[in-house]
Amino acid sequence: MATERTSLFIFFGGTGDLAYRKLYPSMFNLYKRGTLREHFAVIGTSRNKMTDEEFQDAVRKSLGTAKSDKDAEKFISHFAYEAHDVTDKAHYKVLKDRADELDKKFKLEGNRIFYLSLSPNFFGTVAGFLKTEGLTDSQGFNRLVIEKPFGRDYDSAAQLNDALSTAFNEDQVFRIDHYLGKEMIQNIEALRFGNTIVESLWNNRYIDNIQVTLSEKLGVEERASYYDNSGALRDMVQNHIMQIVSLLAMEQPVAFTDVDIRAEKVKALRSLRVYNVADASTNFVRGQYGAGNKQRAYRDEDNVPHDSNNETFVAGKLLFDNYRWSGTPFYIRTGKELADKFTRVDVVFKKPLVDIFAFPQNANAPLEANVLTMFIEPKAGFSLRLNAKTSGQGFQTAPINMDYFVDAAGEKATPEPYERLIHDVMKGDGTNFSSWPEVSYAWKFVDQIRKVWDLQQPAFPNYTPGSMGPAAADELIQRDHREWVYRLNQ
Ligand code: NAD
Repeated sequence: MATERTSLFIFFGGTGDLAYRKLYPSMFNLYKRGTLREHFAVIGTSRNKMTDEEFQDAVRKSLGTAKSDKDAEKFISHFAYEAHDVTDKAHYKVLKDRADELDKKFKLEGNRIFYLSLSPNFFGTVAGFLKTEGLTDSQGFNRLVIEKPFGRDYDSAAQLNDALSTAFNEDQVFRIDHYLGKEMIQNIEALRFGNTIVESLWNNRYIDNIQVTLSEKLGVEERASYYDNSGALRDMVQNHIMQIVSLLAMEQPVAFTDVDIRAEKVKALRSLRVYNVADASTNFVRGQYGAGNKQRAYRDEDNVPHDSNNETFVAGKLLFDNYRWSGTPFYIRTGKELADKFTRVDVVFKKPLVDIFAFPQNANAPLEANVLTMFIEPKAGFSLRLNAKTSGQGFQTAPINMDYFVDAAGEKATPEPYERLIHDVMKGDGTNFSSWPEVSYAWKFVDQIRKVWDLQQPAFPNYTPGSMGPAAADELIQRDHREWVYRLNQ
């Protein structure tokens, strides 16, 4: 059994899609593992009127088939509900009384986690009232969890951060980036810093380029009104991709602690080249899907304006101006309505300086580059491409793959990202959350690209559903005499 953690959770936006689909089922998993046991309680809040029993019914339903589990009823008995408009200052007193009551009942030691799973417009308001109305006066820890997006550019993010910091210190704020809760993202650190043969080659002497692909098969679905104001650059690059890239690029932390890891990620982001107008235009391309493959065009999706110039695809080249990475580009791409749903990192090593097998009489195919691929999802694992001799007479080389994939037992033992992240918040471990300096550097980088794009009229639509994005994404990397490792029809 895991160590029991003690806390009261107050979910703002507690009747929302995220809460029912991810948060409560993840908490039940934590209950099954023993992280949550006797000493926890949940207050769900939203504007809707509901009794505790009605809320408990909804939580029960959210557990899906797990609701018939023998422990489900005991778990649900820890849930309470308060109808609470987050803009109504006076009502925070009611919430405080309820929190104090549950604190006493379940012996929660004054530990409080305030989880903001609602529109980001309210983040600052809620944080401020939690402090001024005394909810953070309890004796234990007070932690604030916030969902993405954190601002829509550097200025709005800085404003939001200022609002939060009137009520919470940086080490009390947990900015969720659910990609950081994924098993294989966390494996980047294990693979790099646990293996001499990896880390000793992890630099521009041996690595030719690194490619990060976050490919989505679906379109905008029912998120169109949010997505059309955000776009792939803000929705995926500023947060998830920049986080993955900083884990790949950072130096070895002094120790495996949140403070040390964050310090190295920030240092890496500080050496990321922020583009001027000309470089942003050359090094980033955008796309929007048209109709094809039985899929309608983005501009014909519900709640998308017919003249929308929002991007549903981004590809780009990132350059770090530091000793480790100078001359080794990081290529990134992400988009909707692509060929398949997957996330992977391909680390392409340099070819041997001399190919001694390439004598004409051997007629051997040229050696291929070694590639270390980290499969993040849906399958988790990694694969190393090496050159080896083929069996038989004569001498021929061919690439072979050494693969490792998490097996079924491993998959079963792997916590859902939200389960892991909620657990981390209870432990007070900020490793897998975005710190303000990381968020701010990421915005400063992304803002430059946005600024250039906002001045230019894109030729949209420019890619077909089921492809890997516009031709410009291939041209971007081919210009450097390279190819995407993952390509269609190869
Ligand atoms: P949602 O619209 O389904 O839920 C919003 C919740 O906020 C509801 O419970 C609603 O009643 C409540 N609410 C709205 N106005 C309120 C007010 N004035 N006072 C009190 N409560 C109020 O949203 P969601 O999809 O659950 O998303 C919540 C947050 O999580 C957002 O920041 C979103 O960007 C983020 N997020 C969601 C997902 C997802 O899969 N749904 C994924 C990543 C991030």
